[in-house]
Amino acid sequence: MTAKRLRVHVDGIVQGVGFRPFVHGLAREFGVSGWVRNTGEGVDIEAEAVDLDGFLTALRARTPALARIDTVTLAALEPLGDKGFVIQLSAATGGRRTLVSPDTATCADCLAELADPADRRYRYPFVNCTNCGPRFTIVTGVPYDRAATTMADFAMCAPCRQEYDDPTDRRFHAQPTCCPACGPRLSLLDRAGTTLPGDPLLAAAARLRDGAIVAVKGLGGYHLAVDAADESAVARLRGRKHREDKPFAVLVPDLAAARALCAVDETEAALLSGSRRPIVLLDRRPDAALAPSVAPGNRYVGLLLPYTPLHHLLIEAVGRPIVLTSGNVSDEPIAYTDADAGDRLGGIADAFLVHDRPIHMRTDDSVARVVTGRAQPVRRSRGYAPEPLRLPVECSRPVLAVGAELKSTFCLARGRHAFVSHHIGDLANYETFRSFTEGIEHFGRLFDVVPEVVAHDLHPEYLSTKYALDLPDVDLVGVQHHHAHIASCLADNGVSEPVVGVAFDGTGFGTDGTLWGGEILVADLASFQRVGHLAPVPLPGGAAAIRAPWRMAAAYLQAAYGDDIPVGLAVEGRNAATWTTVLAMAARAVNAPLTTSAGRLFDAVAALVGVRDEVNYEGQAAIELEQRADPAQRGAYPLSSSGGVLAGTDLIRAVVDDLRRGIAVPVIAARFHRGLAAATVRAAVDAASTAGLDTVALSGGVFQNVTLLTLVIDGLQAEGLRVLTHEQVPCNDGGISLGQAAVAAALPAYDSGTGR
Ligand code: ZN
Ligand code: ZN
Ligand code: FE
Repeated sequence: MTAKRLRVHVDGIVQGVGFRPFVHGLAREFGVSGWVRNTGEGVDIEAEAVDLDGFLTALRARTPALARIDTVTLAALEPLGDKGFVIQLSAATGGRRTLVSPDTATCADCLAELADPADRRYRYPFVNCTNCGPRFTIVTGVPYDRAATTMADFAMCAPCRQEYDDPTDRRFHAQPTCCPACGPRLSLLDRAGTTLPGDPLLAAAARLRDGAIVAVKGLGGYHLAVDAADESAVARLRGRKHREDKPFAVLVPDLAAARALCAVDETEAALLSGSRRPIVLLDRRPDAALAPSVAPGNRYVGLLLPYTPLHHLLIEAVGRPIVLTSGNVSDEPIAYTDADAGDRLGGIADAFLVHDRPIHMRTDDSVARVVTGRAQPVRRSRGYAPEPLRLPVECSRPVLAVGAELKSTFCLARGRHAFVSHHIGDLANYETFRSFTEGIEHFGRLFDVVPEVVAHDLHPEYLSTKYALDLPDVDLVGVQHHHAHIASCLADNGVSEPVVGVAFDGTGFGTDGTLWGGEILVADLASFQRVGHLAPVPLPGGAAAIRAPWRMAAAYLQAAYGDDIPVGLAVEGRNAATWTTVLAMAARAVNAPLTTSAGRLFDAVAALVGVRDEVNYEGQAAIELEQRADPAQRGAYPLSSSGGVLAGTDLIRAVVDDLRRGIAVPVIAARFHRGLAAATVRAAVDAASTAGLDTVALSGGVFQNVTLLTLVIDGLQAEGLRVLTHEQVPCNDGGISLGQAAVAAALPAYDSGTGR
């Protein structure tokens, strides 16, 4: 019976997540001697016993909730015959290369303490432990320990210190450990910043019940809260925020409350109550007790469950659902510093529920939905970032991918790890652009990535492109926007072989200088070929046409009918003042770049049938058109193609014919969706058979349209094709940075400094 000794190196999310106590417990259970310690690159273990198999199997099988093992490497050592197993604290050269975990919803153990009158953390809004609590939003630098978090200024009291130092305690080295005696505190302020008397939480709840708007400092920024059933209060919030139609998210106390407002299936319930706690888009019940202004004209409503003790206590005290929406005006980024919140939200909120733990990283709530039984991200942020995704190919050199412009994210990559940032927002805004550049620097320090290769969009006017082109001493890789979408979907699914890619979105810069957006590609990570697309039409007025879908209706009518546009169409009547100017603009190709965008085709139809002439937020016309579509309708408009070019004008003519026959809008909307889906399936099947491929990847923001997505998936599967959709990053431009990084990683290595 000779003992064996192994050096076990574990890579992944293994620090700050209770991994060493977990190993310590396993060692006791399996009679293993040796030690465990954090290193700069994960966790090292020396384990000695006659039989180590059980220990090693359990190491992988029983990983703690927040940990994620990427690799385990073993090396044989000479047995030392030591007794016992210890957690070594010394060698922690710091978490230079270790992975900071995302912020995580309050765990069951902490909730039990929160509700226990005998516990010293009873009703304490900042209770947390190794298995839950703030992480990414409070980390200021590396190595990851308390001094490098926004908890640095809170000195632990003796009982907290004892828990923190005890390897058998749930709070062993939980950096945000605190209690009412030593940790952050709540206060309630009026608009002038004066502290209001009474229990801050109960007073805030009372104000919410009275219809007031309360700014609440959360995990990644300030939210604005208001009673979700009080129409006058919600309408007041909408007015003050200058947010016309975009839906508000609603915080509900538990799943039962969610089910009272929306249909919630098991997958959705798991997503709502899981540790990441995104806002989940759900089908609202017709009788849902929600103010109409919460989500005007929308069949869906975004619900979320409380994810911090503060939110648990607040919603319990209010006793009914509350709107919880980003603390900002219009499209600005969410406020996250106290000074900023006071300045920017002073005109919106009636009171401020605040605390003295600073937020270091501004992080919005994530948004997800379930389609065909699987969760799909719409916005990947709090609870998900900065957890690394695994690239299907390894980067030979460190990569920065700067993403696109709207729904901006960036991605840093080294080896197989891709660190996709939290949602940054629309880069056109100066403050967002600053978050973008500071975020890149922060991620670089946190994950020890000094980029040598920088991937960017081809659009010369994107601020992200300009930023990339200005970086010194890096090799640049320009990645076509729709290739990036498809590469993103491949990376999301761990696939690197060639596929047919369908990339439908608003617009992206094409290699021919026109605006693409209805693309059929044959692509792998390194390269792509454009094998089909929607027929190009003019975008009259450029960006103005994106804000005004009726302009796309005009452009499409002209493309379909030339000078013989049928008279008496309502869309022309509603926009008579500038109709002929816009037609002339389109005809003469003055300030009217060509586009093959699928999103703009949806806009044209939405305006044509009278759903929406102008939008207040990106994608609004398409979203409302989808919601009008009659799910019982089985008809589909024909759409011809020739040489891979799809005649979108066929759909326009069919819509006009049905309109003039007096067919109802829901029927027209459904026939349009079904016609486009059938044509998309046919085009993808043709491309697959020509190229000898059996897999189709679907990406681009238009595939947030569940009706279209479901029809296309069903159609492709019925043809025996494998379909890839997004599960880890959004199909919209929030996923572009991952795709760019995957393309850069897959390109053949070239000598440093020579460029491409
Ligand atoms: Zn906990
Ligand atoms: Zn304490
Ligand atoms: Fe896009």
